[in-house]
Amino acid sequence: MNSSSIEHVDVLIIGAGISGIGAAYYLKTRQPGKTFAILEARDEIGGTWDLFRYPGIRSDSDLHTFSYEFKAWENEKAIASADAIMAYLRETVAENDIRKAIRFQHKVISAAWSTKDARWLVEIERLDTGEHLAMSCGWFFCASGYYRYDEGYTPEFPGRERFAGQIVHPQLWPEDLDYRGKRVLIIGSGATAVTLVPAMAETAGHVTMLQRSPTYIVPVPSEDRIANTLPKLIGRDRAYAVTRRKNIAKQRLIWRFCQQHPRAARRLIRHLNAKQLPKGYPVDEHFRPSYNPWDQRLCAVPDADMFKAIRDGQASVVTDQIDTFTERGIRLQSGRELEADIIVTATGLSLLALGGISLSVDGVPVNVPERVAFKGFLLSDVPNFAYMFGYTNSSWTLRVGLVCEHFCRLLAYMDAHGHSICYPELSGPMETRPLLEVTAGYVKRAAGQFPHQGVEGPWRTCMDYRADYKTLREGPVEDKHLRFATSSPADAPEPALAG
Ligand SMILES: Cc1cc2nc3c(=O)[nH]c(=O)nc-3n(C[C@H](O)[C@H](O)[C@H](O)COP(=O)(O)OP(=O)(O)OC[C@H]3O[C@@H](n4cnc5c(N)ncnc54)[C@H](O)[C@@H]3O)c2cc1C
Repeated sequence: MNSSSIEHVDVLIIGAGISGIGAAYYLKTRQPGKTFAILEARDEIGGTWDLFRYPGIRSDSDLHTFSYEFKAWENEKAIASADAIMAYLRETVAENDIRKAIRFQHKVISAAWSTKDARWLVEIERLDTGEHLAMSCGWFFCASGYYRYDEGYTPEFPGRERFAGQIVHPQLWPEDLDYRGKRVLIIGSGATAVTLVPAMAETAGHVTMLQRSPTYIVPVPSEDRIANTLPKLIGRDRAYAVTRRKNIAKQRLIWRFCQQHPRAARRLIRHLNAKQLPKGYPVDEHFRPSYNPWDQRLCAVPDADMFKAIRDGQASVVTDQIDTFTERGIRLQSGRELEADIIVTATGLSLLALGGISLSVDGVPVNVPERVAFKGFLLSDVPNFAYMFGYTNSSWTLRVGLVCEHFCRLLAYMDAHGHSICYPELSGPMETRPLLEVTAGYVKRAAGQFPHQGVEGPWRTCMDYRADYKTLREGPVEDKHLRFATSSPADAPEPALAG
């Protein structure tokens, strides 16, 4: 293709989820001179919050930290439904005139960096027409989330084909699924399963959650009384800023407490669980995980709704291993059989690094797992490439603001110094570890496709908002590992950025 006929933008954002929309806002407001577009494979904004349609779908973070710093969360519910989150995102897009920058049904297949041209050539498939097209950009900003959209994760279940009822995965929820009065068996114990249990229990005959092992489940209030009172006293925006700071501090305190005092944290969570469950309930059998709190993400249940469903006899928990599916349900390794009309496999996500996009630098494929993350948003020796990966131990979006601000400062720095190329250089072997440190099974299974991180300094991907705040919001853009150049062949970096 003739490169002069290809549309070029300064920054190409991949994904119109909460991260991509956030990136667009920061570019528009902090770098208004830059051209940008958002390529989105789906036909709607919102990513995660538009994709999942299972009953009860909601956040488990409080929205005062999950929403953007620049736009107050005004809904009374702090733990919010996907519909409320989508309404907030649509409002953000409308208020900032972002929709016209989004190209829907544009799936990015590959991106090839040319040092000579100081730009990425991006291959796109239009999912509505099947057409393949190209765009070029100065910076590639990958806000593609972290999992596959076309399918969830389902383990191989022996005898699955024998089951006479319906099997459903939460990621592909049938719009017309009628479970009124039916026996529902949910396999899983993560955030999705604990959301589904009380939501389906409202109309199902009975809901059983079958888990291989317990997860930490913590009741939290669905409304934040301080957040809902403060606006009347100090105005919306100040109230939002105060609530946000309060919740950031609370999340951090809880996380640190769990890390530093795991035994006390375990006892506290057990106490909170036992208080919600009927007398004599086998709390340890179903609610006492083998790992420590926050070694895996804690599951929050708003207003203890799941415990209420158990108390009311509408739901129950079984901790056992699956031997085989049968015609009528599932036989467990203990020999017990659970009968069901519908089985829901809430068995997790299928993780996918960088939207499955193939990257190359000067003709050499980038082997993503060999790359090391820098400041949690650049990749070693990959020029003009940024990605968005939020926190896994607090609200994902808290990092979106910090990274996007830093990214805009980086662009301003490059303009001020006449640079068109930037990349962190890995100048020799370095001790690394996986980028994803959460020990959940679905994360461990996919860890091999993600980049690595170093053990210290800017090569360490920090999961602490306060430390990131210092580095990304307050810290300088320059760093001894960061290389800058212009596209003129004389001072362009060596194209030895091999994968
Ligand atoms: C059910 C569920 C509940 C969650 N609840 C919380 C919570 O309470 N708190 C929290 O902090 N986190 C939560 N998370 C994690 C959540 O995914 C993130 O917080 C956040 O929504 C991710 O936003 P994102 O924009 O980065 O990615 P996504 O929401 O995944 O959006 C990525 C977008 O990129 C598009 N895309 C991907 N690849 C390509 C490509 N190659 N070409 C073009 N477009 C592409 C996708 O179509 C999608 O629209 C939850 C996740 C799930 C699945």
